[in-house]
Amino acid sequence: MAEKVLVTGGAGYIGSHTVLELLEAGYSPVVIDNFHNAIRGGGSMPESLRRVQELTGRSVEFEEMDILDQAALQCLFKKIMKAHGVKNLVFSSSATVYGNPQYLPLDEAHPTGGCTNPYGKSKFFIEEMIRDLCQADKAWNAVLLRYFNPIGAHASGCIGEDPQGIPNNLMPYVSQVAIGRREALNVFGNDYDTEDGTGVRDYIHVVDLAKGHIAALRKLKEQCGCRIYNLGTGTGYSVLQMVRAMEKASGKKIPYKVVARREGDVAACYANPSLALKELGWTAALGLDRMCEDLWRWQKQNPSGFSTQA
Ligand code: UDP
Repeated sequence: MAEKVLVTGGAGYIGSHTVLELLEAGYSPVVIDNFHNAIRGGGSMPESLRRVQELTGRSVEFEEMDILDQAALQCLFKKIMKAHGVKNLVFSSSATVYGNPQYLPLDEAHPTGGCTNPYGKSKFFIEEMIRDLCQADKAWNAVLLRYFNPIGAHASGCIGEDPQGIPNNLMPYVSQVAIGRREALNVFGNDYDTEDGTGVRDYIHVVDLAKGHIAALRKLKEQCGCRIYNLGTGTGYSVLQMVRAMEKASGKKIPYKVVARREGDVAACYANPSLALKELGWTAALGLDRMCEDLWRWQKQNPSGFSTQA
């Protein structure tokens, strides 16, 4: 029987791509999501996962659930996992746990906790709790994955990122400008200490990121204890480089205006991804052109995301 993997938030952007990779790797994902940042679609299945089923020809178990609802979660563990003996965890962490980089590229030994925003701090706290847990109870194994900046979409163009409201992140915003949903990008500062003055980030194809989770699951099988890995490409691109890459992929002009810096932003942030290669056998395979081409395909095929209204 296929091994079951519980995926929390599996109807969202990274979740749905990861569920697809799990199915293709022969796992049987059980997804819970509270639709905080996912689209319902017509039936009982979130629209993203309905498409994942269509793409893979496999079925996904889904339950609408809030992970803060302890009773419901316990019930799910009883029903689906039979025993409560699950002591293997892959945690979605973030490069923001590093705070303002003291050196670049960021390796896993870089100090964490000096976070510049509350999101980063919440990831840092949870990392610490998982580390303590694994320390206290050796039966636990956990892989903490520090995501850099996932962008792009599945090559089919059927699933992708669909932020509700005004996108906070750069590339969803850029692609909405390219498709004509928004007038111009606001570039948050061009006076950083970087090559062109705009912020530099390590953008990683979401499919590469999803595959990183499969590698992490394999690692857990080695009774690895608590391990931490960066999931990034190792290459940083500036905001203006990203705008140009998207102009190339879409063939559209992307107007922008430079505005004030955004609070909590750092100048540059990119990974040293060599530990993941060494210990997980994982490395990012898809480059910037593919990220932008796949993002554009998703945007063009789904001008208003997963919602059906044009
Ligand atoms: N950015 C921007 N305009 C936007 C959104 C983001 O100039 O509308 C910049 C931001 O200042 C940063 C980069 O794009 O330098 C990536 O931002 P994002 O929010 O996507 O990721 P994060 O800052 O969390 O790494």
